Amino acid sequence: MSQQFIDPVYPVSLNKVRLYRVRAFDDYPGLTHAIFTRHGGISQAPYRSLNLGSTVGDNADAVKTNFEQICRAANIRPDQTVSVYQVHSADILTVNQANRQPVMGRADGLITAERDIFLLLRFADCTPLLFFDPVRQAVGLAHAGWRGTVKNAAGATVDAMVKQLDCAPENIIAVIGPAIGPCCYQVGIEVMNAVAENFVEVDSLLTRHNGAIDHAHFDLWAANRRQLAAQRVQQIIQSNLCTACRTDMFFSHRAEQGRTGRFGVMIGLRGEAG
Ligand SMILES: [Zn+2]
Repeated sequence: MSQQFIDPVYPVSLNKVRLYRVRAFDDYPGLTHAIFTRHGGISQAPYRSLNLGSTVGDNADAVKTNFEQICRAANIRPDQTVSVYQVHSADILTVNQANRQPVMGRADGLITAERDIFLLLRFADCTPLLFFDPVRQAVGLAHAGWRGTVKNAAGATVDAMVKQLDCAPENIIAVIGPAIGPCCYQVGIEVMNAVAENFVEVDSLLTRHNGAIDHAHFDLWAANRRQLAAQRVQQIIQSNLCTACRTDMFFSHRAEQGRTGRFGVMIGLRGEAG
């Protein structure tokens, strides 16, 4: 059927801010989410232009203006966002109205079942993982580069949603957002060993070209998909957008040799009163 040819995520422009939406999330009016791109901000090269990273060398005022821009595009107030210092862990924090802070501390995942809390993380090749349980009305967001992936940040987020928020894995819709793809993600021995220690059947995750023994291409998307499936998540959506192939749209740490910005990914549930 034609269904399979419909892109799972699709681009939208709101004022000048360009973002992607997850088609499967459109069915839920209370759910607000956005996969922002690099377009719609005021930062100059190499951060052009919607950079949300404040530790990458960009002008602080520009980053603040960009942050205000994405909030306006998402129709939320800046003080409704909750973020963390991302440290490539698999630590997941549960946010509620009582403990919420603009920056919750050091972690790589956030979950909440309360409204008007909009989770926000920043990316440039690492995997954004978005979660929504329409039954429990809970959301989650995680950040998984190779370190977070071998630590199973995806599984840890599902586990936290189940244990902390009473979600059922089979109700959770999980989205693997734009991240560096198997086409571009060449890794060396350190990563290959870490993958081998934490996964079975690694040959389908690590592709070696021309018999190379000291490097391979790591499939972050597939690794995260496996971890989600292992937690009994049945609805897994893969955006199939490679940040390194698509530097026209996204920041890529690898493709831009580390001199680049961070794009934002946001998810939350709007309160009844809006
Ligand atoms: Zn690629």
